[in-house]
Amino acid sequence: NITIGVLALQGAFSEHIQLLRLASASLSTSSKFSFVEVRTPAELSKCAGLVIPGGESTAMSLVAARSGLLEPLRDFVKVHRRPTWGTCAGLILLAESANRTKKGGQELIGGLDVRVNRNHFGRQQESFQAQLNLPFLEDSKATSKDAPYRCVFIRAPVVEKVLPHKKGEQSEEAGRDETVVAPSKKPVDGLAEAELEAEVEVMATLSLRNPNLQKNQEHEHAGAEDIIAVRQGNVFGCSFHPELTEDPRIHAWWLGEVLKAVERRQDFELADRTK
Ligand code: GLN
Repeated sequence: NITIGVLALQGAFSEHIQLLRLASASLSTSSKFSFVEVRTPAELSKCAGLVIPGGESTAMSLVAARSGLLEPLRDFVKVHRRPTWGTCAGLILLAESANRTKKGGQELIGGLDVRVNRNHFGRQQESFQAQLNLPFLEDSKATSKDAPYRCVFIRAPVVEKVLPHKKGEQSEEAGRDETVVAPSKKPVDGLAEAELEAEVEVMATLSLRNPNLQKNQEHEHAGAEDIIAVRQGNVFGCSFHPELTEDPRIHAWWLGEVLKAVERRQDFELADRTK
């Protein structure tokens, strides 16, 4: 049994749990998942993987700090290297660097060597949806690939820069920024060490030339090609809110990735024991 947590401090956590349940039912695997809300370090410690939902990253970070969860979250992502997926505000928290907004900055969890620009597309009323063909879903056997995915962007961030790979060390870029990410500790096992070597992969971009974007969805802030999904080893983040659709394909894809990570960890443990 594999326990997947959803950080339930603020934001769209119950929507994630619903879609994770739907997605796991669609997976043809003997492994059974269970899904739990995470509000305390004790609850986090039972999880093999974690989802951080969309919402408001400053609020989430403040509540996490107050609940004594920030350090355990950083250890979960960056020391134990458990599979972690952040959507929208979750992506912001998983970045090593983020800009301040008028309301201020926040403490980040980190894990992705990227800098995000919060509220990249502007305000609430400039939120939009786009039907996109997501390359990682097309490669995936677990999902049907024919239909585009409805991506919901609400005061969404984008990845404005991929930072130099720092293999768990504090980057100068993060230091110069006003956000604080604790320096990482040593990886705990073979898999964590391997994940540390992983580079940032761009998983999806949004092009304003996309024919599925309607005229009124164009944004003065948008670039020609904005990065809206990235992965680095165990950490995956996207700008949009898959939890606000009824489409379980990204959740199914991610659960498939979690299964692979769990198997890889078992392989490393076996190799350690037979050394
Ligand atoms: N812009 C929000 C933030 O800075 C994120 C928006 C969202 O998750 N929908 O946290």
